[in-house]
Amino acid sequence: MGLGIRKGDIVLVATGKNKGKKGRILSVSPAAEKVTIEGINVIKRHTKPNKKYAQGGIIEKEGPVHMSNIMFVCPKCSKPTRLGNTVLEGGKKLRTCKKCREVLE
Ligand SMILES: [Zn+2]
Repeated sequence: MGLGIRKGDIVLVATGKNKGKKGRILSVSPAAEKVTIEGINVIKRHTKPNKKYAQGGIIEKEGPVHMSNIMFVCPKCSKPTRLGNTVLEGGKKLRTCKKCREVLE
C-alpha cells in the first residue's frame, strides 16, 4: 500500500486503534510513508497564545498514520481496494481501481 495515495483521497484505516474509520487524506509524506487523515488519530495539544492562535488553549491536530495501516477507498465503487496504473500513449499515468477497473482521474 502507499503507492499512488494522494491528498484528498478517501482511505479506510485497516489496522490499529482507528480500525474501520474512513477519512480524507490531508497530507502525504512519501519519505516517511505516513499520511494524515481528517478526523483520525487526532492529538490534542495545549498551546500558549501565538500569532495563529490568539487565545491559546487546546489545538486538535491529526497525527500521522503509517501507510501500511490504510487502504484506498475507490470513489467509484466505494470499496477498499488497491490501486493499479494504466499508462496512456505518451506516458501519462492514470490510477485505476483494481476492483471495478474504473479509471480514477
Ligand atoms: Zn472501484
